[in-house]
Amino acid sequence: TPVVEMRGVTKVYRSGSSTRTVEVHALSGVDLVIYPGEYVALMGPSGSGKSTLMHIIGLLDSPTEGQYSLGGEPVRGLGEAQLARIRNQRVGFVFQAFFLLPRLTALHNVALPLVYRGLPAAERLKRARKALESVGLGDRLDHLPSELSGGQKQRVAIARALVQEPDLLLADEPTGNLDSKSSDEIMELFDALHRQGKTIVMVTHEPDVGARAKRIVRLRDGKVADGGMA
Ligand code: ADP
Ligand code: ADP
Repeated sequence: TPVVEMRGVTKVYRSGSSTRTVEVHALSGVDLVIYPGEYVALMGPSGSGKSTLMHIIGLLDSPTEGQYSLGGEPVRGLGEAQLARIRNQRVGFVFQAFFLLPRLTALHNVALPLVYRGLPAAERLKRARKALESVGLGDRLDHLPSELSGGQKQRVAIARALVQEPDLLLADEPTGNLDSKSSDEIMELFDALHRQGKTIVMVTHEPDVGARAKRIVRLRDGKVADGGMA
């Protein structure tokens, strides 16, 4: 079963007044299939639809037309609560801006998503510790985000995404806030996660970063110009 299976996905943004509506076709007829264990980079110029596609893949937004299944589950017609449940179970997000809670230690930032699973505290902390060890931060459990370098903060964010054991790791410009040394460190971590069999989709406009992926999907004017099919 593909992790991502998209057929003819179109996204139209409508704005304006009752007398004059503006339509933007952010995505037009996108076909995209991604299998378990793939490492894919989504690339394309600004405005080509990368963020829109990312949001649809991660169930943060819905297609205007077309079919999308995540992990074999068609998402058409699902309500917000069902989408949120599937999103929490299946997708781990990593963003450019880390979004760590400043008053929580690395360990507690990573344990937080497990609260919604109803796991006991000891089990949450045990899993969080394991996730931090897996990204090489076993010696930074009790540090606050302000006590960590940019590369370390992003590794905490990656551990927080992994702690839920998602089907898909979805990373939006994961190196956008990092210097080149930290950026390399994060790309090496993604290589390692790929070797462990994780499914990774990342949006990047940096050619060096995209080149680390095993497949590049190129968007142009809301269409897949290259790489949509495995
Ligand atoms: P990228 O991430 O490649 O820069 P986006 O997916 O952000 O591309 O945008 C694709 C197109 O959709 C652009 O023309 C953009 O202006 C438009 N767009 C994105 N989000 C919205 C929105 N919420 N409302 C209206 N237009 C939007
Ligand atoms: P790395 O290359 O491992 O991301 P650096 O070489 O930038 O980290 O930093 C070395 C150490 O200094 C890190 O392990 C971290 O604990 C500490 N450190 C780095 N940046 C900061 C910062 N902005 N504030 C506090 N401590 C920092």
